[in-house]
Amino acid sequence: MAPIRIGIVAVGKIVRDQHLPALAANPDFELMAAASRNATVDGVANYKTIEDMLAAKPELDALSLCMPPQARYEAARIALNAGKHVFMEKPPGATVSEVEHLRRLAAERNVSLFASWHSRYAPAVEAARQFLTATTVRAAKIIWKEDVRRWHPNQDWIWQAGGFGVFDPAINALSIVTHILPPLHVVRADLDFPANRDAPVAARVDFAGPDRLPVSMELDWLQTGPQSWDIEADTDAGHMVLSSGGAKLAVDGKVLSEAKEREYPALYEHFAQIIKAGASDIDLAPLQHVADAFMLGRRIVVDPFYG
Ligand code: NAP
Repeated sequence: MAPIRIGIVAVGKIVRDQHLPALAANPDFELMAAASRNATVDGVANYKTIEDMLAAKPELDALSLCMPPQARYEAARIALNAGKHVFMEKPPGATVSEVEHLRRLAAERNVSLFASWHSRYAPAVEAARQFLTATTVRAAKIIWKEDVRRWHPNQDWIWQAGGFGVFDPAINALSIVTHILPPLHVVRADLDFPANRDAPVAARVDFAGPDRLPVSMELDWLQTGPQSWDIEADTDAGHMVLSSGGAKLAVDGKVLSEAKEREYPALYEHFAQIIKAGASDIDLAPLQHVADAFMLGRRIVVDPFYG
């Protein structure tokens, strides 16, 4: 099969860190073009807008949409209406219902839509899922604490409404949890909003699952020093710790799985597979949990944040 001719829309940090190397290493794809208002990609045709790119390169088969979530729906609508397969960075949209619309549009246009969740492809996630499936979980805890100044410098969109704030990294944890634990629902949330921002800097969220399985989530975006991206579970087979964002699995202190991460290469392998199979992959469970936390959450105003 000829390579899938792909264009990238919105060239920022994640495109440079992950998408470009993953595409360069994958013979199933040929990167032909990029569309970004203020950035370009070397060695391909560059345009300012998605519309200009589609007009100049009608032969494109697929687009990767890497803008902030507030702008994703409009770009995806244009791409799907043009009959292109679409890869969406996480989170797939700013609201649940806009992504439901995109799901319907992709089906109508008979193209593949991939709502990607890169953390699901972290190397120890599958081992954790298998471990938990074979035992009974009694309680679980998500601890996602990182330094926003280190990971998101100068990203104003992330602090605006629809930018998710601390839930931008936390949705990665939720993408793992919704893959490895039974279905949960939010029962309580406290959201700390800096006085000068429209998105939370910290949060505490409680979930319940089958038989009232208690699951808690602690989020903090002001953690300096060691960073915490951990999911812990008390189970009948021992205390499980999935740490380093899903890269390392240990039970009762014994390491069961630890490998080099290759999340984005795996994402593009999956995208090629679903295009070949004529399928879509759109799981909204992580986004729904974030929406529910915002809907149920108590808003607490805290100190202003200055980057
Ligand atoms: P970024 O560095 O801010 O880049 C996003 C780019 O999108 C901008 O440079 C901008 O390029 C373009 N853009 C289009 N519409 C925009 C708007 N309304 N506001 C701001 N920028 C707009 O962000 P990023 O870190 O690459 O993140 C992009 C997406 O990837 C987010 O959904 C994020 O959650 C996800 N992601 C990020 C990371 C990470 O580590 N940073 C990891 C995984 C996933 P132009 O001005 O040139 O158009």
